[in-house]
Amino acid sequence: MADLDERTRSLAERRAILGPSYRLFYHHPLNLVRGRGTRLFDGDGTEYLDVYNNIPSLGHSHPAVQEAVSRQLGLINTHTRYLHENILDYAEDLLSTMPGELNHVMFLLSGSEANDLAVRVAQAYTGGTGIIVTSEAYHGNTELITKLSPSIGHDQPMAIDMRMIPTPDTYRLRTEDLGTWMAEHVRKQAADMRRHGIAFAGLLIDDIFSSDGVFPGKPGFLKPVVEAVHELGGVYIADEVQPGFTRTGTFWGFERHDVVPDIVTMGKPMANGIACSAVAAREDVLDAFAQSSPYFNTFAGSPVAMAAAQATLDAMREEDTMGNARRIGGVLLEELRSLAREFPQIGDVRGAGLFIGADVVAPGTTDPDYPAAVRLIEGMRERRVLTSLCGPFGNVLKIRPPLVFDESDVDWFMSALRDTLRNG
Ligand code: PMP
Repeated sequence: MADLDERTRSLAERRAILGPSYRLFYHHPLNLVRGRGTRLFDGDGTEYLDVYNNIPSLGHSHPAVQEAVSRQLGLINTHTRYLHENILDYAEDLLSTMPGELNHVMFLLSGSEANDLAVRVAQAYTGGTGIIVTSEAYHGNTELITKLSPSIGHDQPMAIDMRMIPTPDTYRLRTEDLGTWMAEHVRKQAADMRRHGIAFAGLLIDDIFSSDGVFPGKPGFLKPVVEAVHELGGVYIADEVQPGFTRTGTFWGFERHDVVPDIVTMGKPMANGIACSAVAAREDVLDAFAQSSPYFNTFAGSPVAMAAAQATLDAMREEDTMGNARRIGGVLLEELRSLAREFPQIGDVRGAGLFIGADVVAPGTTDPDYPAAVRLIEGMRERRVLTSLCGPFGNVLKIRPPLVFDESDVDWFMSALRDTLRNG
């Protein structure tokens, strides 16, 4: 009882102090005090399995990142108006993971800031303002980017020079050729912009379509889409905040499609929990913006952020998170597909590497079943397994664990899921 009182008191206190904008996960929110690898612990020492968090990409409290951050904090932490070798060493190393055309990188603190800068860069380069996104996209929380993030809510004002294309929903769409279908939608929306006197600047997409409901699609399907963008005089901005840094089984999500973006944005998993994001671009693309405005971001690219990002990148290589995402992601996908054959409320399972979506539907249909999906994640939480939901109907189970997820984690996850589906 004392625990419940304590929880109730702190929830009310939280709302009184923080205001109503913050949302918590779960009917009974968790108070986590410690994490290690894929495991999280609350104040009572109860252990949970993390099947959701992509920021601690190497697992919670990774010792190498911890060590790199404390060492650098003990030396100096300033900003980019002084010289420091960390930023140059890391920038070179980061760019070495990308196609050679992408030869410049700028650092920021969040995915939102990275997309904000990327859109401004695209607009300066093309001279246009029009941006195309998918109908359930989320790209961030700045003034500019909320207006390009329809998933925030349909009451939210959208940018007048933004156009939407439908989500490439491989489960519900009946199209033979997803790439051509999507390229046609891009052409149609660019034509609509033209009719309204708006010049097309570019396409901003997350290539795993995470807020749209996780739709990795077949490798290569984005190729004709990117070709259409270039024919129309725009740039392709790859939002790699979700798929980037080895999660999809390639280092970057766009590699699955054999395309080269003009601009790449990244964030979340980049420094295993330390605020750090980036925009990488071709020199000529960045130039128009760089010539017209200086850019400074107080905390971004700091020696500590760069030390954390470098330690993360090094550990990703040493621990082969890419290989693990492929191998364990493959095992998980197979197990989930066989579970879906047993339980008709799982209508579709799709994924790339360690990013998997499971569509919860009314059995025998493709109709999203949001209440059943909520019961599912609440039931999993009771079994100490943490996941969440996404997609326009909030019915897609989002399976996106730290990249060090292993066989024993798969076993725990699958038995909790099976038990919840069976017993509620
Ligand atoms: N892009 C995508 C695809 C995202 O999922 C998010 C965050 N969920 C962002 C951008 C914004 O990142 P941040 O929260 O770090 O600003």
